[in-house]
Amino acid sequence: MDYALCEALQHNMHGVTRALTFYDINCQYHKHFHQRVRNNPYLTVHAALKIVPGIGLWHVHGHQDSCYVRYASNFIEGAGRIDGEIMETLWSPLNLISPSARGMSSPHRKECLDYHMNDCNFMKMIRMRKSLTRKYKEARAGVEESKKAFDAITSNAPPVAVASWFDAEVESQSRRLHDPSAMDIYDIKMDKGLRNIAMFQIILLRRDSAPSKKQKELQLLEQHSGPRVPASRRGATTWISTGLAIEEAQIALIMAVRKLGTRPSETQTLEIVRKRDRLQGQIDRFNAGAMTYLGDNFLDHEVDDEDDDFEDEVLDVEIMEDPDEDETEDGAMADPAAPAFPPELTVIPLPSNIGINRCSQLVALDLIPQEMSLREGQANDALHNLRVNLSDKAILLRTVVRKAGSQSRSTRAWSQVKSVENKVSLCASIYQKSRKQMIKLGVEDHLMEKYEPLLREHLKVTTAVADPNARGQRNESLAWFWSVDFDSSGPDGDWMNERECYTPSATSISIHCCP
Ligand SMILES: [Zn+2]
Repeated sequence: MDYALCEALQHNMHGVTRALTFYDINCQYHKHFHQRVRNNPYLTVHAALKIVPGIGLWHVHGHQDSCYVRYASNFIEGAGRIDGEIMETLWSPLNLISPSARGMSSPHRKECLDYHMNDCNFMKMIRMRKSLTRKYKEARAGVEESKKAFDAITSNAPPVAVASWFDAEVESQSRRLHDPSAMDIYDIKMDKGLRNIAMFQIILLRRDSAPSKKQKELQLLEQHSGPRVPASRRGATTWISTGLAIEEAQIALIMAVRKLGTRPSETQTLEIVRKRDRLQGQIDRFNAGAMTYLGDNFLDHEVDDEDDDFEDEVLDVEIMEDPDEDETEDGAMADPAAPAFPPELTVIPLPSNIGINRCSQLVALDLIPQEMSLREGQANDALHNLRVNLSDKAILLRTVVRKAGSQSRSTRAWSQVKSVENKVSLCASIYQKSRKQMIKLGVEDHLMEKYEPLLREHLKVTTAVADPNARGQRNESLAWFWSVDFDSSGPDGDWMNERECYTPSATSISIHCCP
């Protein structure tokens, strides 16, 4: 083996100073390679030649977690990744001969396999030009794609951090030949809850262009207060903001009712009934406020308009289930305490619900930009919380669930995951509702580009986040909302910082083809 490698490294190598070697167990094999060469008079490797050891992706996933960052081709500069392992792709065509080889005696079978393998090698040799051209094209396309994902992260991260990551990268890449553990900075580290330092951190900055709902409300209050504002218009912002909060509570309650199952206990039913009661109170107060801002007769149907029948509608919410969650049986819910008009399905008189036409009839068009602004804040908050909860889920999966030794611990760990999944689902549903209402309010194009629709698969915690060294994720990249600008300065901000480093490991997968 050593001899074969040394000879290969001397063949046609004039002017080549760097060689990548891929071997299934390179982490062990390469460890004392240079020592063996020094001790053996028949082995020589050119002194100027740098050998970078690598392990093919197929095999590295079977190694210890630490081998992934040290030997996977994803982290080797200059390595493009087009196919998996070439040797293993030979196996499937060989399956064709297995029926006839089964009945053969062992020498006969060996000869048969040799014959087919040789044929395969010959075909590979004569088709090499074509296949290399195709792979080169694929590699170039891969570079483009990776660059896009990489730039999206770089543009959202603070320049100071980018500079420090760049320095760290240069340092670890230069040390890797002598010390493979230098590459460990690419790995996710979890030191008893201490701040994690990973290579590609995303600092989730919410810039001024994407403030939270609270910030939006503050801005609006500053604009719409003071002596010049008519008394009938004061407090409209707070009123709309309450409406948005009621809607969020409605979504949460719809989800709670769905979770009840077929035979809810008395305690569960009581809890739902209490929540409904509280919500109804909030809605009543909100409706009373509507008189002030929309006029006393906002419910009158004097004008026949297709927009004004909102109070007969049922709240239109799309509940985004967590894709990892088990399917709940729908429609089989027994909800004995359900009133004829459950408060969670009542449509409240927000401008987006009563429609732009009706608003203009009620001389309340000034409320529309206010709701629009608050909706934007709501969507920002929902996306921020979505990411916080998804990161949290990833950590739970990686730490608590993976390390749970006993059955009881594992059950407890999964129930923790379940509760985070509920939060993910809630945030996603709120976001979808907020987006829908923004469209009803006639949102501008540039905002619509920013607030893309959420799909169920976006809510998946990529296994790359939970377990970077897992199979079958090499072409995954992060969902769009991970690279939208967000604030980590909110109440959960610091907490996010500790988790932020989990997000990028999935991105490192996209950085697989270095030019
Ligand atoms: Zn290994």
